[in-house]
Amino acid sequence: MAGFTRRSLVIGASVAAGVAGARYLGSQLPVLDGTQNIEAPGGEGFLNDASGLSRTPVSKHIILRDEPAEMLVKALRAELKEAADAGRPVNISAARHSMGAQAIPRDGTAITFANNFLEPDTRGASYRVHAGTRWSEIIGALDPIGFSPKVMQSNNDFGVAATFCVNAHGWPVPFGPMGATVRAIEMGVMAESGVRVV
Ligand SMILES: Cc1cc2nc3c(=O)[nH]c(=O)nc-3n(C[C@H](O)[C@H](O)[C@H](O)COP(=O)(O)OP(=O)(O)OC[C@H]3O[C@@H](n4cnc5c(N)ncnc54)[C@H](O)[C@@H]3O)c2cc1C
Repeated sequence: MAGFTRRSLVIGASVAAGVAGARYLGSQLPVLDGTQNIEAPGGEGFLNDASGLSRTPVSKHIILRDEPAEMLVKALRAELKEAADAGRPVNISAARHSMGAQAIPRDGTAITFANNFLEPDTRGASYRVHAGTRWSEIIGALDPIGFSPKVMQSNNDFGVAATFCVNAHGWPVPFGPMGATVRAIEMGVMAESGVRVV
């Protein structure tokens, strides 16, 4: 009994020393519990990318959320016409993780898609989403019905269209790049433009 107690004391002391040593010598870097969507403010003035290092003057920044299809089409057409008449560049983005301001239209019209339309097709093991939907929203919508995207990147706050615009690579190697999961893309100045993926 006495030997067991001594051994327990030695082990206990070693564990305590290990924990204290790890705390003392361990990295002081913050631990991030997942990622969060970065919300850029709308309005006039300046726009930044996710790095926070690329403050760029824009004429206008509008955020298009869950407008009905016809209203979104109308809004996009009006913005494109206004920008064309004024000779301004236009850019559509989602999370703006593309850094160095190359995806921010200097003195132009910046449009952020924040539409999270998703329509699952459980029989076809696919779903249809709006270009601006974030992967975190897709995972959140598919998980309760027993599905998930086949291929994902390291982060889940990127936009769907943005992912395919940059030809992103996924991490589950056997299934190929993100683009390998796309079944159909509807393009155009239309709200119902979407990406059908597995
Ligand atoms: C921490 C981190 C991890 C990453 N991990 C990976 C990874 O695992 N694999 C990988 O391949 N890449 C990775 N990347 C790169 C990432 O895939 C791209 O930066 C991706 O575009 C991010 O999405 P976003 O919503 O921020 O794009 P944004 O920066 O908002 O947009 C990207 C481009 O797409 C265009 N675009 C966006 N939406 C539309 C639209 N609706 N219509 C037309 N054009 C549009 C924009 O104009 C821009 O040119 C990573 C980047 C970071 C910062």
